[in-house]
Amino acid sequence: MPSAATPLRKNSYVILLNMRYSELFGKTRKDAPRDEVSVNAKLLLKAGFIDKLMAGSYTLLPLGFRVVKKIEQIIREGINKTGAEELLMPLLHPKSIWNETGRWETASEVMFKVKKDEKEYALSFTHEEIVLDLVRKHSQSFRDYPIKVYHFSTKFRDELRAKSGILRGREFLMKDLYSLHAEKSDFEEYYEEVKETYIKIFKRLGLPVIITEAGGGVFTQNITHEFQVLSESGEDEIVLNPDGKTAQNVEIYKGKDGKKVKAIEVGNIFSFGQDYCKKMNIMFTNEKGEKQYPYFGSYGIGLTRAMGAIVETSHDDKGIIWPRSVTPYSAHLVHIEDPGTEPAAKKAYEMLTNSNIEVLWDDREASAGEKFKDADLIGIPVRLVVSAKTGDKIEYKERTKEKTELISLEGAIKRVQTG
Ligand code: ATP
Ligand code: MG
Repeated sequence: MPSAATPLRKNSYVILLNMRYSELFGKTRKDAPRDEVSVNAKLLLKAGFIDKLMAGSYTLLPLGFRVVKKIEQIIREGINKTGAEELLMPLLHPKSIWNETGRWETASEVMFKVKKDEKEYALSFTHEEIVLDLVRKHSQSFRDYPIKVYHFSTKFRDELRAKSGILRGREFLMKDLYSLHAEKSDFEEYYEEVKETYIKIFKRLGLPVIITEAGGGVFTQNITHEFQVLSESGEDEIVLNPDGKTAQNVEIYKGKDGKKVKAIEVGNIFSFGQDYCKKMNIMFTNEKGEKQYPYFGSYGIGLTRAMGAIVETSHDDKGIIWPRSVTPYSAHLVHIEDPGTEPAAKKAYEMLTNSNIEVLWDDREASAGEKFKDADLIGIPVRLVVSAKTGDKIEYKERTKEKTELISLEGAIKRVQTG
């Protein structure tokens, strides 16, 4: 029997392989809304990845959606390896469940509350209480342990600061994983496994992270671990340890000197001990037939914030520079519409598609300058040009390099595939 950690099939999420730019919903635009000050929101809005509905509330347009789906899949592959199972929990919660831990009151500041016909509800800002309610109903024996479940879903938080674009939404996407263990040592082992898994996930996303000790906010009195990406645009301040790989958040830092740097928190993991389980009376029967409280932890990664952090740390004055791992398309095909070049552009589009390369084809009637400008803004790692000058070859250019090369179509395909 395959273990829970054996993926049965890859690429279970189906995504369109190719797209003509003329047909794409959500095009580039000249300006971002005036009230946007952050680099991530400005670039993502201008490049056609997101749309702003109101402060802290964004639509993921098709390009942005593709990036987020790729981030999601990288996270899923990492988390599945730890043996956790994916599910999906509701976003509308009854008040009663939040009263069990007292968070209806203590987390009131961040919670969106809804009243309808005298009944009160909360829009999800996290899911600890919901997971524990599931465990109460489904897992009463030591044989059911450990429990590891996660989902990707929306979180609602009434954030005061909304100057950071998609780094701080009032509605945003998160992966949240929850684990319960019969033994403390088993919990601690899993906590470390998730920490290592997170480092690998963020590396694949192109985000080198600093593991940072921090407080637990409305979640816990215990020390938690944050995954911080160094960036001037970050809202967090951390003090780096001499090893350069770990740090402490200034909110708990007690030393005098120490170099403070700005950072973006992209992930956070929490050890709750038995606190929540005691509050909600979550118990299981151990091997001796005695009732016992389990050890509980939760582990979050912000998907939309991760996308924003990638843009903050990977762009230039022309636009975004996507890492290959999360780019919306692998190749940006630019057709400069000189007479007689249409068949060559079509052939390139078809061959790229047949080679399973995700390709965005700029087939608009627009100037070469405009198309190149948009390609730089959108930030796909490879630009391929078909024009009167390219003949039976194609012009290959990487987003991060100035150099252009005239190479065969087969050669270009190989380079897109292998990087
Ligand atoms: P912050 O301190 O930045 O408000 P948090 O510590 O309250 O965040 P957690 O509860 O630890 O956030 O959430 C887990 C992850 O969800 C964070 O590490 C971050 O990546 C993401 N996240 C949290 N709040 C937001 C938000 N308002 N918008 C986008 N992503 C968020
Ligand atoms: Mg946090």
